Amino acid sequence: MNEVLALDAVSKRYPDGVVALDDVSVSVTAGELVAVVGPSGSGKSTMLNLAGTLDRPSSGRIMVDGHDVAALPDRQLSALRAGYIGFVFQQFHLAPGCGALDNVADGLLYTGAGLRERRDRAADALRRVGLARRLRHRPHELSGGERQRVAIARAIVGDPGLVLADEPTGNLDSATGDGIMNMLRDLNAAGTTVLVITHDQDLARGLPRRIVLRDGRIVADAAVAS
Ligand code: ADP
Repeated sequence: MNEVLALDAVSKRYPDGVVALDDVSVSVTAGELVAVVGPSGSGKSTMLNLAGTLDRPSSGRIMVDGHDVAALPDRQLSALRAGYIGFVFQQFHLAPGCGALDNVADGLLYTGAGLRERRDRAADALRRVGLARRLRHRPHELSGGERQRVAIARAIVGDPGLVLADEPTGNLDSATGDGIMNMLRDLNAAGTTVLVITHDQDLARGLPRRIVLRDGRIVADAAVAS
């Protein structure tokens, strides 16, 4: 069994004393598509930030692709994050002055590949998300759904093992959101492990595994009968 991500007795207490995660243990295997659900403030984003090595736990152990995150020097941790994890956020987080192609190509800066190769790979990733005809468009020239597709292309351009998506449909109407979810499903069907945070119960019900958080604790972790 190839474990992509493991949280072992992980807690997170913010400096102001808020305990956002309280003794959470979870394991995600290669090829899974997992929904993380729960009300606002239940700790979903905190869990995703920890899984993505963007933040460190107060206690407990986090393993990403077999590496104990706390044991990695900063440089190796950055390399793991850049090379192994793709992020998709509710707010897209695209650079406003850059076209779609360069927004996606920037996702490969860490690889040291030259500009032409980065752009070639970016064009491929944009093709995969159906945006072959929008390469030069800047974010303000794209619809919300298209912006999120650019963000997905940026997340997958480096061929990550794990994609972490934090409310990727939160800023989209439901039809557009369904399209984005289908894209994440296709990505998963092609072999990428995907963890998606959502407060949309309908959306979560359609996914094969659902982890439910409440007050920083996992209250359910179940495969959904399909
Ligand atoms: P969710 O994503 O489920 O809405 P969060 O992980 O964002 O939940 O937040 C969980 C709890 O931690 C909340 O009470 C929130 O106010 C608190 N919190 C989140 N981020 C911070 C932070 N950077 N500093 C202090 N408290 C935080």
